[in-house]
Amino acid sequence: MTRPLRLLLIDDDRLQHRFVQEIVKNFRGAPLELESAETYAAGLKKLLSGKFAVCLLDYRLGERDGLMLLREAQEARCETPVIFLTAETGGDVDLAALETGASDYLVKGEITPRLLERAIRYALRLGQTLNQLRQLATHDELTGIINRREFQRVLDEEWRRSKRFKHPFALVIADLDHFKLINDTYGHQVGDEVLRHVASLLAGQVRTVDRVARHGGEEFALLMVETDRKQAVEALKRLYALLAETPCIIPENNLTIHVTVSAGVALMPSDATNPAELLAKADKALYAAKKAGRNRIVTADGKVVKPVVA
Ligand code: GH3
Ligand code: MG
Ligand code: MG
Repeated sequence: MTRPLRLLLIDDDRLQHRFVQEIVKNFRGAPLELESAETYAAGLKKLLSGKFAVCLLDYRLGERDGLMLLREAQEARCETPVIFLTAETGGDVDLAALETGASDYLVKGEITPRLLERAIRYALRLGQTLNQLRQLATHDELTGIINRREFQRVLDEEWRRSKRFKHPFALVIADLDHFKLINDTYGHQVGDEVLRHVASLLAGQVRTVDRVARHGGEEFALLMVETDRKQAVEALKRLYALLAETPCIIPENNLTIHVTVSAGVALMPSDATNPAELLAKADKALYAAKKAGRNRIVTADGKVVKPVVA
């Protein structure tokens, strides 16, 4: 049986809950499970949990209103489609709701079962489509990890957060050594396999708070939060060791391919005053690692950590 999709109703009127429940019960197609929140705070918390497929949000919510809640949810990058509920005499609230990010609105006194069902089904479809688009826009197709654009956004966000809380973080750019040779020797498809292999090793090794991105062709970017220079180098050493003991095995071609990477490390805040400068510093350190003979780590303060595994 398909798991029911969850529908959230944020409304301080209990009667509305019963009314919607009655309609939802008789929905055709995939089942929906209704949950209510009767206050602004409880509603916002549930909405931001990301567990709901659609939200019905009432304009009137005690001292604050649904528009304020919608604004807060948008600022917190809420991805759940919201159908706004307005009163008949709502003035331009409906338009304001759409401008604030609601995907639709319904006038409370005019809601019929058919209308509500259609609005919910439409919002569900919209939510799924937006999710797919978001995934495409933020992830790399070959490796499944985040892409350069999304990494840039994460980096900017982490920069602000770290500045506020006065935490350092490390940025690493790692580039496969002599990767062109792998393509030239075994073909592009094998090259792709190797990229997937390295991406999954990196993604599997970092903490959930850290981020790994495909930053370019055979170049990966890592962001390690609350990490100083020493910790970043230690983490990278472990990665190098893992990479050395885990070659990419391609049974179809009877191949076992060992790869090494060169990495440049830059630290926020000691190495840069903004994200672009931090990236440039990591890039420069990477270049130095290549020049020094590859398969090594160079930090932006000029230290070279030599091949960890022979
Ligand atoms: P270095 O050690 O200096 O980094 O040498 P390299 O050969 O790794 O670097 P170079 O920049 O000369 O070549 C990178 C190669 O990566 C060239 C390009 O065709 C290949 N590449 C980029 N993206 C992909 C991809 O998605 N799949 C495959 N198979 N190859 C790719
Ligand atoms: Mg390379
Ligand atoms: Mg490169």
